[in-house]
Amino acid sequence: MDRDFTSPYSHLPVAVFTCDQDGYINYYNSAAATLWGHEPQIGVHQWNGAWKIFDMAGNLMDAADSPIARVIKNGETIGSAEIIIQTPTGELKHVVGYPAPLYDEAGNVAGVLTTLIDISDKKSGEKKQAHLAAIIESSEDAIVSKTLDGIITSWNHAAEQMFEYTEKEVVGQSISIIIPGERLSEETLIIGKIRKGERIDHFETIRRTKSGKMIPLSLTVSPIKNASGEIIGASKIARNITAQKEAEAQLQRYAENLEILNEVSKAVAEHMDTQSILQKVTDATTKLTGASFGAFFYNLVDKRGESYTLFALSGAPREAFEKFGMPRNTAVFNATFTGQGIVRVDDITKDPRYGHNSPHHGMPKGHLPVVSYLAVPVVSKSGAVIGGLFYGHNQPGMFTREHEVLVEGIAAHASMALDNARLYEEVQQLNSKKDEFIGLASHELKTPITSIKGYLQIIERNADNWERNKSFISKTHSQVDKLAGLINDLLNVSKIETGKLPFNFTKYNMVNLVQEVSELMHYSNNTHRIELSVPERELMVTADRQRIEQVIINLIGNAIRYSPNADMVKVELYEIGDRIKVSVQDFGIGIEENHLERIFSRFYRVDELAAHMSGLGIGLYISKEIIDRHGGQLSVVSDPGKGSTFSFEIPVSNN
Ligand code: ADP
Repeated sequence: MDRDFTSPYSHLPVAVFTCDQDGYINYYNSAAATLWGHEPQIGVHQWNGAWKIFDMAGNLMDAADSPIARVIKNGETIGSAEIIIQTPTGELKHVVGYPAPLYDEAGNVAGVLTTLIDISDKKSGEKKQAHLAAIIESSEDAIVSKTLDGIITSWNHAAEQMFEYTEKEVVGQSISIIIPGERLSEETLIIGKIRKGERIDHFETIRRTKSGKMIPLSLTVSPIKNASGEIIGASKIARNITAQKEAEAQLQRYAENLEILNEVSKAVAEHMDTQSILQKVTDATTKLTGASFGAFFYNLVDKRGESYTLFALSGAPREAFEKFGMPRNTAVFNATFTGQGIVRVDDITKDPRYGHNSPHHGMPKGHLPVVSYLAVPVVSKSGAVIGGLFYGHNQPGMFTREHEVLVEGIAAHASMALDNARLYEEVQQLNSKKDEFIGLASHELKTPITSIKGYLQIIERNADNWERNKSFISKTHSQVDKLAGLINDLLNVSKIETGKLPFNFTKYNMVNLVQEVSELMHYSNNTHRIELSVPERELMVTADRQRIEQVIINLIGNAIRYSPNADMVKVELYEIGDRIKVSVQDFGIGIEENHLERIFSRFYRVDELAAHMSGLGIGLYISKEIIDRHGGQLSVVSDPGKGSTFSFEIPVSNN
């Protein structure tokens, strides 16, 4: 080993080596050997002890061009030079060399003494720093640092985007410029924790942008320490959680909507009356849509043919509508009632259908302001539009597709419930009719019995006066017949109920039957004449003669009873194709349309009449059953106040 360990440089922690005037290494210390990663041979290695050297751009350098060579060859003085050296194991090191010329006594360059300092750590630190800076700059989260006094010291690109302030505008300013007034105390709390060296994780709060927009954020704040571990500030990472908050809000809305839907289903299932169902549905949907008010209108046109009846209202007092009357049959409303589906308009006042109808041409003065408009038809199972649910809001664009879907679902539910409620109400009505019937039946049965009892008493008292008694006996007979008829009718009803009404079909001439019955009715009543029109020829049918007779008697009987101010009933028999038709026309009180369907049901009597006229409400029910069982049809047309025509058709017998 040619190295001189007696040199004053031997134990220096920095690498030192010397070359002679030809560049051959003539001394290096152990720090230099460590740096180079090997021990070059004295007097053999020239210019440099490193395995390889590169310039800062990474190009391999010829040792003869190294800074040391330049000092020796050209006598240049170089303060310092940065190069990269490679050790025999391939390790690269950043090195700063300080080559200093050595002179002989004559003042000529006799060699060079070079000190090498390894700056690799510093370099990689800088690199790391640059890397970090790049990460911070490209981060999507806002990253901000501040002093413990809240003065902003750095502000990345995402912070500029998020808070709308540039870095230049805010560095040196207090962080409070982005904290809403009512949240300033949060900062004291955060700094308090930071001072204690604590970190704040995912703190959800709100910050204000330069333009005043409030944005929801999730903050993570960590203390910044200096080299000696003192806390000197805080770094803050802010994530915009608007989307997350929206998603949460939407979930919340969904949950709430579900709850309301559940409530409605329950309420609708529990209530059997239409009024409560409609009120619940209107209340719930008004809440769901966030409408200022909602209403349900029945699809009923009034006598003038132009308005719909308000049935349920939510969010506004009834008086708010009463002074305007019902919504009119305008182009806007009509769409809902004529099955054109859902109407949703962001601003109804700008809709082409709006404002065409006089006298208001839009909303009447003082009407609740409606800008956003939503109307959903409530359609029955049969496809008929029962009514419509209407919602209004005084701001534009308040109703969405989501609202449409929700209300549509509830409307479908409601229509089913309404159908059921209607059936239920009908059953209820029939039940109360049944109670009424029992009262009526006992009254109707008692009347002939009272008469019979009276006649028998008279007969008893006049036991010896046969001539006088004869007329009372015949009167008793007719009361007994009436009683038998009533009991027969009642029995028929119960037989119909159990499907056991017997029929006895024979072939006979219908012309004869109609003639006989009409004559009988003509002579047995003294108020009405029976005007009969039958064809000349025979009309054969295969039917139960007695039951058909019962039907004709019932129809003529009704015609007489329900036309107290008339004196004539028309009975007609004719042939249409392969059927015969019997019609009985009266000129009496007639029947309002809403009763027409129901008079054929058991115990049904038109209320306004029932009080004045005797009857049980079963004649037409039995007649209809009889005609049905003949494969025929019993029907009625009526003009209230003018009279009715009841007719039945049954097939003609061909053989
Ligand atoms: P009732 O014994 O009550 O007459 P019906 O079944 O024969 O029973 O008739 C049912 C109801 O239909 C009657 O109560 C009456 O209200 C109405 N009705 C029947 N026929 C007529 C008619 N010719 N004119 C007016 N109303 C009628």
